[in-house]
Amino acid sequence: MIYNNVDFDTYFRNYPDTDGYFGKYGGQYVSDELKAAMKEIDTAYNTICKSSKFISELRRIRKEFQGRPTPISHLERLSNKLGNVQLYVKREDLNHTGAHKLNHCMGEALLAKYMGKKKVIAETGAGQHGVALATAAAYFGLECDIYMGSVDIKKQAPNVARMKILGANVVEVTDGLATLKEAVDAAFNAYARDYKNCIYCIGSVVGPHPFPMMVRDFQSVVGIEAREQFLEMTGLLPDAVVACVGGGSNSMGMFAGFLNDPVDIYGVEPLGRGEKLGDHAASLKYGEEGVMHGFNSLMLKDENGDPAPVYSVASGLDYPSSGPEHAFLHDIGRVKYDVVDDDETINAFFELSRLEGIIPAIESSHAVAYAMKLAKKMKRGSILINLSGRGDKDMDYIIEKYGIR
Ligand SMILES: *Cc1c(COP(=O)(O)O)cnc(C)c1O
Repeated sequence: MIYNNVDFDTYFRNYPDTDGYFGKYGGQYVSDELKAAMKEIDTAYNTICKSSKFISELRRIRKEFQGRPTPISHLERLSNKLGNVQLYVKREDLNHTGAHKLNHCMGEALLAKYMGKKKVIAETGAGQHGVALATAAAYFGLECDIYMGSVDIKKQAPNVARMKILGANVVEVTDGLATLKEAVDAAFNAYARDYKNCIYCIGSVVGPHPFPMMVRDFQSVVGIEAREQFLEMTGLLPDAVVACVGGGSNSMGMFAGFLNDPVDIYGVEPLGRGEKLGDHAASLKYGEEGVMHGFNSLMLKDENGDPAPVYSVASGLDYPSSGPEHAFLHDIGRVKYDVVDDDETINAFFELSRLEGIIPAIESSHAVAYAMKLAKKMKRGSILINLSGRGDKDMDYIIEKYGIR
């Protein structure tokens, strides 16, 4: 399929290009030292990860350890309540550790093992990526250093405990505002000092090349499984596919399965409290071109051109940029990026829990909320939603802030 001069039959071979660009987005905006480290990972990825030994080991791990393939569930009661459109969810909440993040963490850690590395390093904000990587490190017997701002360490005590139980070393970062941005900087610095012994494992389809490509490829298992399962269940492709976008990994994984199909694709960003800068984290819808964390993409900027403060009720979505591939798909129009606000999201959270017996992560609830609106507009057909994770981590927050509705 050719869409806006982009040939999707050969898309994955040509995007990103060898320098890591999706159109004008992506690249490697890092020091020469880090460039050498990225080159090492890129070369290893392009040889090791294409080998049949690596592929069959990753397949076995996905089946025997992660519990893949995760199923697709038909949301019968919610669909009936909304009208005629049939809603389905891909159940990444049933992937081991309760979210999609383990898909790329297992891939990255397996690559680390094949490269002979002793240690994996990463940053974490809310702690979800840290827990997934600590799980992968425990599985493979790798050391694991997770950099985390002291503000986040206080806020996310249960995830800090999980990482420690899994044997990871949580490194407190006290610089600046002591949250995610400072943790990213500290983790990159530690990696630059010791890249011979360790590998950096990024948490989404962001960062310098080759990470946006690698994480997409590891996450594409979601879309590949979903396409096959949906065809088997219904005999047709879905009319629309919907996923939430923070950095963009669960959505990119899902979309990868459907880019070359006549399927409408929607990425959902958090509108939070509203359209004012600082009240949302919708970088694709409202952002402009810019470089941060080693890559060029669309980002939300403050008046000085620096990454703007962002907000979302979902801590996994409050990032001032998104992966370069999303910026590219946005510009060519292959994927439509839209928003839902906090209220719509919390309403969807309760609807899915009450009508279907599935408690979604607040991040994933954004996708559900958008699909509910879309279902009313479409009148007939089917929508496949990526349910990126389960909501157990959000219980205390929901009860405290919203009570039982
Ligand atoms: C981290 C997270 C997200 C957001 O990250 P993406 O890279 O955009 O997928 C979404 N859902 C859940 C459950 C998460 O843990």
